[in-house]
Amino acid sequence: MNYNNAIFLKSANLITQLPTESRAEVAFAGRSNAGKSSALNAITNIRSLARTSKTPGRTQLLNYFQIAEHSFLVDLPGYGYAKVPGAIQAHWEQTLSEYIETRQELRGIVLIMDIRHPLKAFDQQMIAWVTSQNLPIHILLTKADKLKRGPAMSTLLQVQRELAKYGDLVSVQLFSSLNATGIDEARLKLDSWFID
Ligand code: GDP
Repeated sequence: MNYNNAIFLKSANLITQLPTESRAEVAFAGRSNAGKSSALNAITNIRSLARTSKTPGRTQLLNYFQIAEHSFLVDLPGYGYAKVPGAIQAHWEQTLSEYIETRQELRGIVLIMDIRHPLKAFDQQMIAWVTSQNLPIHILLTKADKLKRGPAMSTLLQVQRELAKYGDLVSVQLFSSLNATGIDEARLKLDSWFID
């Protein structure tokens, strides 16, 4: 799969607005500021990402980027910010759970975690919830450039150990948008999901 020329297709605020032409899609999730936009940019070279995903008030939407015919990456809003009004938060949680539980085209979730703050409560909930749907989840421990090789590797092993109970449904890797660590590995994982 060529991820280099992804283009923004549309934002959806309701399940009924999801593209009907999708046959396979992978969604990116993560706490706000973990580095999700940067990771998506690094993997895809999506130039319109910052504009589409960071416009205030649009962050609660599912943003669709087309990478090939019938194949999409979906940018989910960053979670963990209490800034959103209650009603919007409730709408978003409902939409997200419906999306993950019912979207047939969804092949897997990429979860972005800052390597210095892995496995926060939100991340743990997401992992438990996604795997309970029998969907695979691939974790990018991003900003790996912030740690030396030794501490980065030991964090990777520790996270892998903590998630071993989920078996093959969960995988973890080091990533850095800054120095391009792990881009090929992430693309190979996406390929395996899209080709399946
Ligand atoms: P998002 O809110 O999850 O989309 O996070 P962003 O991609 O906007 O990144 C949040 C902050 O972390 C920004 O200041 C980025 O420059 C920084 N950042 C993101 N990825 C990396 C990385 O791999 N290494 C370093 N050092 N900083 C990063």
